[in-house]
This record gives sequence, structure tokens and C-alpha cells, in this order.
Amino acid sequence: MATKRIDERLRVKAIYPGSFDPVTKGHLDIIQRAAPTLHKLVVAVADNPNKKQCFTIDERKEFLREVTKNMPNVEIDSFNTLLVDYVKQKNIRVIIRGLRAVTDFEMEFQMALINKSLLPTAETIFLVTSTEYSFLSSSIIKEVAQYGGDVTHFVHPLVAQGLYQKFGIKR
Ligand code: ADP
Repeated sequence: MATKRIDERLRVKAIYPGSFDPVTKGHLDIIQRAAPTLHKLVVAVADNPNKKQCFTIDERKEFLREVTKNMPNVEIDSFNTLLVDYVKQKNIRVIIRGLRAVTDFEMEFQMALINKSLLPTAETIFLVTSTEYSFLSSSIIKEVAQYGGDVTHFVHPLVAQGLYQKFGIKR
């Protein structure tokens, strides 16, 4: 019995949910730091029709697959339900989120509390951003790309190409 419990602890499955519209090096940094501590990490794209997105679910998943292709314990998926319902269905215990600055804190705090009250068995764990990515967000990247600015330091080359294509920018 005790051995089984230790075994289960070693096999922690977590989810990193988000819009990933598109995935940035800031997201990737969180994935790269979280994955080695886990048995499995499901990176799940939220399919939220209330949020206007630049890339389709399939495009966002494709970018994520490309940037995580060398990480065998990372799985890419999407969900269009309440996060806690998806978490329950996939038998996940841990929700990973990234924290950039105090501005993220209020929203993340609220989400962690509501998720905890909806599904008490799930724990949210926060990873603090690496300093070099603390200013990075998908929206700032889209804004820079839209005006033809150089985003190649902040996203995977395939994502940069996708952004320029989306905005009709020739570089
Ligand atoms: P959402 O729309 O759910 O905020 P995002 O795709 O913007 O989804 O982000 C998903 C998660 O990744 C959030 O917890 C967010 O705070 C975190 N995140 C985004 N960018 C960074 C970054 N540069 N450093 C650390 N965490 C980040």
C-alpha cells in the first residue's frame, strides 16, 4: 500500500493550460522547467470562444508540438470545457501556471481559488518567470509582428514565420 502511494507520487501528471496564441519562449521556459520534475505534462490549449484569437486551435497545437518535439513526457492537447472538468477527466492532480509580475498575480490568484473550490483535489503550482522572459507575452509579440518588428528572439522560427504570414508581412 505504502509502496503504491510512493509510486503514485513519483508519477505526477500535471497540466499547463493557456491560450498559447502563440506559444512564446516564456511559455517554453515554463514547460522546460516543469516537465523534468513530472511523470507527464499535458500542455492544453484552451478553446475559449469568448476570446478572440489570432491562431486557430490546430495552429496553436502545431506550434506547441514543434517546440516540444524533443520532450518525450510532454503531450499537447486542447479542451473546450471548464478546466477542472478536463482535469478531472484526465485524472490530473496538478495545474501549472507561470507568474510574470504582480500584474499576473491577482488574476492567477482568483483562478487558483475558484479552481480549488470547484475541484479540491487539484493543486495549482506557480513557476516564477525567468528574468529574461519576464516582459514576454503573446499579445506583445503579436503587436510587434503586426508592424513588421523582429520577434525572432522571442518565439520559435516557425512561430515567427506564422505570425508574419498571418499579418501579411514580408521579411
Ligand atoms: P492565458 O490566456 O490563460 O493567460 P497564456 O497563454 O497567456 O494564457 O499564458 C498561460 C500561462 O503562462 C499563464 O499562467 C501565464 O501567466 C504564463 N506565462 C505567459 N507568458 C509567460 C512568461 N513570459 N513567463 C512566465 N509565465 C508566462
